[in-house]
Amino acid sequence: MNTNAFRSLSYGVYVVSSWDHGRAVGCIANSAMQITSSPATVAISINHDNYTNRCIADCGRFALAVLAEDSDPALIGNFGFCSSQTVDKFADTPYSIRGNLPVIHDACAYVVCEVVDTMETETHTVFLGKVTDADVLSSRDPMTYAYYHKVVKGKSPKNAPTYLPEEEPAQPKWVCTVCGYVYDGETPFEELPDDYVCPICKQPKSAFVKK
Ligand code: FE
Repeated sequence: MNTNAFRSLSYGVYVVSSWDHGRAVGCIANSAMQITSSPATVAISINHDNYTNRCIADCGRFALAVLAEDSDPALIGNFGFCSSQTVDKFADTPYSIRGNLPVIHDACAYVVCEVVDTMETETHTVFLGKVTDADVLSSRDPMTYAYYHKVVKGKSPKNAPTYLPEEEPAQPKWVCTVCGYVYDGETPFEELPDDYVCPICKQPKSAFVKK
């Protein structure tokens, strides 16, 4: 089986949000798709290890905010590489309540769903949601997963449905130990600038290791 075939499938990048007993929670998802148009239904795939998974199951509702190509990459570090169990991801993220769910401002569009069915896989829950609210927030281009990898140069956390192990780079590179971002400055080089900050997760130079 050539798993590189999966790289030709298309995905977006989304902030999936829900409530944890009145507290806003969320995570990054790339597997989301419209299943039917009438009634409008959407499916998302969320890892069992994501705290947001059990919050969606308990709350019975979720929102999907579609990130734009120029959405702040730090959103992916905040929502994709931390846990809502220990971090208030909405503390410094502007959002509004839309369709009774928290929806971040820095997005192209949002869709709010009521969970109507679930399917368990070994690692992920597929939530099928009936759309109860949706709107366009801006005319910016939606971020695709390919754009995130090729242009933003972001990586996938290991619990992403589409995670594929990376091949080892031929040349040494500085890699963020928090989010996996690979510094793409001039090579070869010995040191990162002292004031360097990860563009994805905002960690300092000390979070980087040479690989
Ligand atoms: Fe990082």
